Amino acid sequence: MTIRPWLTPVARSREAEILVEWTAAGKSIDTRGIADHIDHLASRSRRIHEHDCLNLNPATNVMNPRAEALMAAGLGSRPSLGHAGEKYETGLEAIEEIEVLAAGLAARVFNCRYPEVRTLSGAMANLYAFMATCQPGDSIIVPPPSIGGHVTHSRGGAAGLYGLDVHEAPINPDHYTVDVAALADLAAEVQPQLITIGASLNLFPHRVAELREVADSVGARLLFDAAHTCGMIAGGAWPNPLDEGADLMTMSTYKSLGGPPGGLVLTNDEELGARIDAIAHPGLTANSDAGRTAALAVSLLDWVDHGADYARVMVDSAVVLARSVAAGGLPVHATRLGSTASHQFAIEADGYGGGHALALNLRHANLLACGIGLPTGDGLRIGTPELVRWGMGPEHMVELGGLIVEACGHDPTVVAPRVTEFRSEFRELHFINKDPGPAATVPI
Ligand SMILES: *Cc1c(COP(=O)(O)O)cnc(C)c1O
Repeated sequence: MTIRPWLTPVARSREAEILVEWTAAGKSIDTRGIADHIDHLASRSRRIHEHDCLNLNPATNVMNPRAEALMAAGLGSRPSLGHAGEKYETGLEAIEEIEVLAAGLAARVFNCRYPEVRTLSGAMANLYAFMATCQPGDSIIVPPPSIGGHVTHSRGGAAGLYGLDVHEAPINPDHYTVDVAALADLAAEVQPQLITIGASLNLFPHRVAELREVADSVGARLLFDAAHTCGMIAGGAWPNPLDEGADLMTMSTYKSLGGPPGGLVLTNDEELGARIDAIAHPGLTANSDAGRTAALAVSLLDWVDHGADYARVMVDSAVVLARSVAAGGLPVHATRLGSTASHQFAIEADGYGGGHALALNLRHANLLACGIGLPTGDGLRIGTPELVRWGMGPEHMVELGGLIVEACGHDPTVVAPRVTEFRSEFRELHFINKDPGPAATVPI
């Protein structure tokens, strides 16, 4: 392999360092040794995330082991093209049932008519939404990075790759969302086919009903990107954007939803549903990984049984954690509405060299978090989905807040063993169905 010349010097040297040991010139490939090493790396990663460190990153979660096992149950390499009852291949009687059940559960959890589960990522879910509503060259209005707008909505992401003319919405920093009145003016000017809302940090519910009116005034469609807020919506802690007027809702399924890596596209609109269906297949997927679909179905059952409690504890914990680190002197990003009404909040990180620099520093304290844009500058994003799955609640957030404050202030390596010790009390997953399996009856 050639070290890619377009990478930064840091990335080039890391790639070279990893490759050199196993592919040194003249050495034959040690297939057994590399396979063993990859097994070792998988365990090491599990150890980092599930033993040594605490994940404060809201863009990740730990899966129900039963769902995780289904991803390695011999399903994923069985392509299953077309609709149940008329599959292109044969032998898919069991997989057809899995697909229909997963879609039925998505419809039930998100109270929607037409769910599309053959979506390999949240990024692709957004591409499906763009393709279903726009032609290349059309204008769209999207949230900018200063309020957590995601790259997939930008020129460099799926929107730009599909040829859309991307316009950034004016923002309302007081509510960490778009400025609806100014957005209406922009919409009148650029005549978008699509307006998107929903970001990678969401502190307070967005004004979906007002955006619906703006969209209607210019004949645009409205897409709600719930990659992060899907857990809030599934658990009923936040209003459902589809009820408030969004035409489409997309999401990642591995963040607050706690399911497998993948995406979902949801709509109540028959015409859009049919378009999304055709984009999923024959459009952009052939094999869409039935193992992932089965894992999604099991993860959605957890939401049926425990979703409301899980979402409530995520919010309550985030509120207490934000208060605790603020009391310890950290600059928690506050809007006129407060710091958060969701499972996430942010620390203003400019005084620490930026969000990414602070995240790298916190890694030395065994605390995992990541950077995010704020109207005030650079931020560090903190969330509670994984903490709560491991059994933490508001009652543990003062102690955790103390550890975060200390890790930001001193030599973070001193805090590392105490973080590992703190988390060692939380070994059991919560808000999931354990064997022998779900008890509730689910009309779907
Ligand atoms: C994470 C994220 C995505 C992309 O999700 P993937 O499943 O990782 O592709 C899309 N939109 C937003 C707002 C996100 O935060």
